[in-house]
Amino acid sequence: MICSNNDCKKDFTPKTHNQKYCSDDCCRIATNKRIMEKYYEKKAIRNGAYRPCKKCNVQLSRYNKTNLCSSCEKNINIKNKDKILRMIDEIS
Ligand SMILES: [Zn+2]
Ligand SMILES: [Zn+2]
Repeated sequence: MICSNNDCKKDFTPKTHNQKYCSDDCCRIATNKRIMEKYYEKKAIRNGAYRPCKKCNVQLSRYNKTNLCSSCEKNINIKNKDKILRMIDEIS
């Protein structure tokens, strides 16, 4: 096995079949790295890093907490409204 810690990559004999790191230290370092990556990802979003709209890929505002831009969201709302209006029409 090669240690999954990219800074180590030491060849080692795993003690358990799912051991990915040569030592507890490497495991800890790699886990910390993952936590930091997540942290920076969140920080980047807060700082206005590029986040595309799921529907049209336009850049989302950092104040937008959804995965859709405001115009796509509006479109969905309009469609829903249409649906509701049509339903009301059918009932009456
Ligand atoms: Zn290692
Ligand atoms: Zn959009």
